[in-house]
Amino acid sequence: MVSSKSKVLNFIDGSWQKSSTSEMLGVTNPATAEEIAKVPLSDAGEVEQAAITAAQAFREWRRTPPVERVQYLFKLKRLLEDHFDEVAHLVTKECGKTLEESRGELQRGIENVDVACGIPSLLQGYNSEDIARGIDETMIRQPVGVVAAITPFNFPSMIPLWFLPYAIACGNCIILKPSEKVPLTMQRIVQLVEQTDLPRGVVQLVNGSKEAVDAILDHPSIGAVSFVGSTPIAKYIYSRAAAQGKRVQCQGGAKNPIIVLPDADMEASARIIGESAFGCAGQRCLAGSIVATVGAAQEPFQEAVSEVARSRKVGFGLEEGVEMGPVISNESRERIEALIEEGAGDGASLSMDGRRPRIPGYENGYFVGPTILSDVHPESDLAATEIFGPVLSLLPFERVRDAINFANSGRYGNMACLFTRSGSAARRFRYEVEAGNIGINIGVAAPVASFPFSGWKDSFFGDLHGQGQDAIEFYTLKKVVIERWPPESE
Ligand code: NAD
Repeated sequence: MVSSKSKVLNFIDGSWQKSSTSEMLGVTNPATAEEIAKVPLSDAGEVEQAAITAAQAFREWRRTPPVERVQYLFKLKRLLEDHFDEVAHLVTKECGKTLEESRGELQRGIENVDVACGIPSLLQGYNSEDIARGIDETMIRQPVGVVAAITPFNFPSMIPLWFLPYAIACGNCIILKPSEKVPLTMQRIVQLVEQTDLPRGVVQLVNGSKEAVDAILDHPSIGAVSFVGSTPIAKYIYSRAAAQGKRVQCQGGAKNPIIVLPDADMEASARIIGESAFGCAGQRCLAGSIVATVGAAQEPFQEAVSEVARSRKVGFGLEEGVEMGPVISNESRERIEALIEEGAGDGASLSMDGRRPRIPGYENGYFVGPTILSDVHPESDLAATEIFGPVLSLLPFERVRDAINFANSGRYGNMACLFTRSGSAARRFRYEVEAGNIGINIGVAAPVASFPFSGWKDSFFGDLHGQGQDAIEFYTLKKVVIERWPPESE
């Protein structure tokens, strides 16, 4: 049971514990700027305790048959569904997105539980009889052991669920380190995990930031680390954990280009792209942040998307009719405002300025309204920098080739989208564009749980992605057995 209302607790060794640290951070509702809880910045000793417990739990958990392991996931799915709105409310309160967006992300999280429930067949290996006369060879998958997931603020429920279900279904024990900005959602979800009666130590929760993360990266008992967050931290985590011999997957930041061709349905495209750019206040790693229009698409697209941006209702995500919430923090808002200012100073025209919108009743909230910068220069900082706010940049090109070259010129490769009615343009785009998630007339090309979340370039460091079959590969070690049995005398 969680006893303290305002202080977030760790879940270690089967019990809810107050962190021993005196270092605390405030958790804020970004719509009101009110502090709603305090989160501890746990130290290396707490990670050590979790790692020891996990290593002990692993001995028995790995022997638990996969069909038994998934029974806990079936229970977790039911519990998540029974508490669906309660968890979604928590997401909105600490992260700021609208209730509908929170429901959407939780649904996507639950879909990963669904897929992981198929582990008894997903985990199967393969074999060849008679690789040589009388010799057989078999590949079996075994769990890695103790694994950890370090996750960002923008999807407090979904992103930890990209990892937890697969990790434990494959027979591992997992330590979760959620973002210190949004610790309440995972605290609640781990309470639900506890209600499944999962054996002690299979899932643990350690709150904190750099110190806890570094302890995870250096701990000899932790064999694999999954990370999602910004590119500089992804690179840091990838290199430090890999240097310790760990298996690592790190999903980083993004700057997602979208190309609009003149034959696209302008109204539908603008609606879909507006949702991509301004949904979740632009704080999605799959947010469309830069639109390259080709030829005659420029004017009608700009007009249509400006209308979409103008009509978007901004406010507190729990209120009826609100379509966009605040950004996560004042620091974030100030960074976004500075980037808008810089972009405008760098030759772009600020065709819609969303800075400091007035939201009656929420004057202290960290709001940035939908913002559009047009005629952005392809080589400007604005065209290359991840803004992570509701800011859409527009760049006109004359030829499809130039728009594709521009899309490929960035350092990131998380997502690229094309809007067109032409099948051959779509095929060319799919073929040539350097990004791991491609949308054709789709604004947020988010792979469903049975597919890998495939970032490329500076959006991903590692080999195996999150979700789908990649998750099974990541969370298991392959073992090959070659057998020869001398014939028994008859
Ligand atoms: P972040 O990198 O600041 O934090 C992510 C995690 O790293 C948190 O748990 C945090 O505690 C930890 N961390 C932060 N600084 C650290 C340090 N110096 N040393 C060790 N650990 C540290 O990211 P964020 O602001 O929470 O999330 C937004 C970023 O995440 C954006 O760049 C966004 O594009 C990216 N993101 C990527 C994906 C993807 O799938 N590629 C998905 C969601 C978010």
